Amino acid sequence: MPAKRDYYEVLGVERGASAPDIKRAYRKLALKYHPDRNPDDPSAEEQFKEAAEAFEVLSDDQKRQLYDQYGHEGPSRAGFSGFHGTDEIFSRFGDLFGDLFGNLGFGGGRRGGPRRGADIKMRVRIPFAEAVAGIEREITVPRRDACGTCEGSGAAPGTSPETCSQCGGNGQVVHRQGFFVVQTTCPRCHGNGTIITKPCQKCSGTGTVQTETTLKINIPAGVDDGQTLRIPRRGQPGELGGPPGNLYVVIAVEEDPRFIREEFDIHSKATITMFQAALGCAITIPTLEEDFELTIEPGTQPGEVITRRGKGIPVLGGRGRGDHHIHVDVTVPKKLSSEQHDLLQQLATSFGDSVGPRKGKGLVDRLLGR
Ligand SMILES: [Zn+2]
Ligand SMILES: [Zn+2]
Repeated sequence: MPAKRDYYEVLGVERGASAPDIKRAYRKLALKYHPDRNPDDPSAEEQFKEAAEAFEVLSDDQKRQLYDQYGHEGPSRAGFSGFHGTDEIFSRFGDLFGDLFGNLGFGGGRRGGPRRGADIKMRVRIPFAEAVAGIEREITVPRRDACGTCEGSGAAPGTSPETCSQCGGNGQVVHRQGFFVVQTTCPRCHGNGTIITKPCQKCSGTGTVQTETTLKINIPAGVDDGQTLRIPRRGQPGELGGPPGNLYVVIAVEEDPRFIREEFDIHSKATITMFQAALGCAITIPTLEEDFELTIEPGTQPGEVITRRGKGIPVLGGRGRGDHHIHVDVTVPKKLSSEQHDLLQQLATSFGDSVGPRKGKGLVDRLLGR
């Protein structure tokens, strides 16, 4: 990894820069290197992350002071380790971006300019085993696409939307109230600046039609119930040249009655009899892969946990796997034949245990005086 650049240099500000200056510089860079605007440029994403990291430190008085005093060591000693992915940055600075793209006509806000398409959120259910191993899944995404009949204009073929006469196409109207000038959204065209006089019949004048697209998505090994995958630019199409929204896939993992997951470890139960526990045995247990022959040592106690290291769930985006913990459950026979009862009683006597007499003698036993 190349040496880290100075945070002030990254944002292009002086060392004594004020908080608003830092924020302004960061917004400029965030917009320039935003992954949605540079979909095919991995270096842009790196610069996007670098700027976010610099902003995270310099916008926080405490972290900034540590950085000024100790350099990059300072904030990292205080537990700051930078950002690992752009999702983390969006969730951290989401409000700032909303504001930022709103002002510039992305993602809503100003009407009439390019608008970023809406995000789509979907849920996908996968079996437990597929969450462990990872899987490629085909999903069908409902989305709205530009209407082919009117080419997205919403106006019937052969006609075109007319410029709104009330606002002259601005989408905004200006009123004077005493000394004040008040600007509001045009009530006639609702801010679009144009009026569709003859709507396209196919799309009822909306310019979009409901369609479906099928995509292949890779669900990574080790994914857990409730986690969300972000698939950039696969949401609703943007308007007037705006970028498309993102697709968010929420993963629902089905339960497997044989296993309980705890982070990257799994727990399962192995049931043996008191005789197997005392004498030792080999039993076949289910694991995340094929069945496994587990050796139970003589003298194994109820509730004992046998751990198989590295046989749990793959660690997401990292190396290695969690562990598999097998909880031993020991059963005691509920019914004994008279022969078994006598044998166990002899055994108990040899241990010096006091045990009760056999209960519920049968009629035949009593008749024969046993
Ligand atoms: Zn249409
Ligand atoms: Zn208007």
